[in-house]
Amino acid sequence: MAAQVIIDEEECISCESCVELCPSVFGFNEDTEKAFVIDGADPNDDCIEEAIASCPAECIEVE
Ligand code: SF4
Repeated sequence: MAAQVIIDEEECISCESCVELCPSVFGFNEDTEKAFVIDGADPNDDCIEEAIASCPAECIEVE
């Protein structure tokens, strides 16, 4: 199965760090105030590792 980027929205504290570091993969939903993974984003994008490392809630995973 292809890799998939997942955000645990329950845990997301809306800091937008992932969006700043990796805007090709992460977006921010102003309605829910949670980050989301952009449809069709490349799960192998290099910036994902950076976003995972800097997420204060540790709620980003690649499966
Ligand atoms: S870095 Fe983590 S806590 Fe911050 S917006 Fe992204 S998913 Fe949410």
